Formats: sequence, structure tokens, C-alpha cells
Amino acid sequence: MYEGVVQDLIDELGRLPGVGPKSAQRIAFYILQTESYDPTRLADVLTTVRDKVRFCEICGNVSEQETCSICRDPRRDQSLICVVEDAKDVVAIERTREFRGLYHVLGGAISPIQGVGPDQLRIRQLMTRLADATVREIILATNPNVEGEATAAYLTRMLQAMEVRVSRLASGLPVGGDLEYADEVTLGRAFEGRRLVG
Ligand SMILES: [Zn+2]
Repeated sequence: MYEGVVQDLIDELGRLPGVGPKSAQRIAFYILQTESYDPTRLADVLTTVRDKVRFCEICGNVSEQETCSICRDPRRDQSLICVVEDAKDVVAIERTREFRGLYHVLGGAISPIQGVGPDQLRIRQLMTRLADATVREIILATNPNVEGEATAAYLTRMLQAMEVRVSRLASGLPVGGDLEYADEVTLGRAFEGRRLVG
């Protein structure tokens, strides 16, 4: 334990996901000891990010405007929607440059253990987007783990009644893993090899 404000800094850093006590201590001492490091820049970004960033009204991706840059881009293929759990997955898929359609961010996955049901996800909004028949294919790119598979199975059932092709990313993605950690080549191939499920 350190005194006062130093410990406060370590505690606060340690509350962030993926930062253990040792990392929190290392970051805190870097901030304290590195004269060239300007902590006001981090402080400024942290205070403005909450005000500035919101979620796209169409797809749920992070955005600084009402709609995100992908939804606003007329060159994107409006007939394809790739369904992902998180905005982080959008970034991972964009890196592959394999997909030129639109996205739909669910905001999580179905998980009875964590009390997340279909109603907590942006599924109703997805159905609304299919109303005008512009969309021809839905690509389910939820994570290849238990929750992601359950969510994909649920969506496949829901989409059966709609006039739309439903495909799932090909296997080859590490089972039990997280889409955002898949390397670009594997993720790109998973797109090419997607299979119809409904
Ligand atoms: Zn959007």
C-alpha cells in the first residue's frame, strides 16, 4: 500500500478491465516518474470521451454523430448486414478489408448466467432494418463461444420468417475465443468461407 493519492491512482487504474494490480502499479509509477509524459492529455481525453461519443442510431457502433461513418458511407453495400456483439468486433472486421457491407452491433450476447436475454440486445432494431427488403443477407459474426453460438442460433430462428439469407462465419476461428483477438487472415478467411444457416 502506498500513501494517499498514489494509492488512489493505482486503485483507479486497477479498476479498468485487463489491468491487474502489478500493471496498475507499473503505469502509476510511469506517470509519476516520467517527466516527458504529460498526464493532462490523458485526463482531457477521459473527460471529453463520455460527452462526445455516442452510439450510431442505425447500427449501434460508436460514433461522434447521430450515425456512424460506415452507415453514412454510400459506397458500402446496403444489401449486407454483418451482426456482431460489440463495436470492437467492427474494428476487427474492418481491419480484414474483406467486408464492404453494413454492421449491426447487438451490445452483447445471450447469456442466461449473466442475466442477458434477447430483450437486452439490439435485436428488435435489427428486425426493423430488414423491413424495407433492401437487405439480402445477414452474416452472423458473433463470437465462437457458448454465448455467441446461442445468440447466432436464436437469430437464425428469428430470421427464418424473413426474406433474407442468413450465413455464419466459417469455422477456423478459435473455438471459445473472442472475435476481436482473431488475426486478420483467419478472420478474413472466415468471411470468405461463411456458410448459409437459414
Ligand atoms: Zn452505424
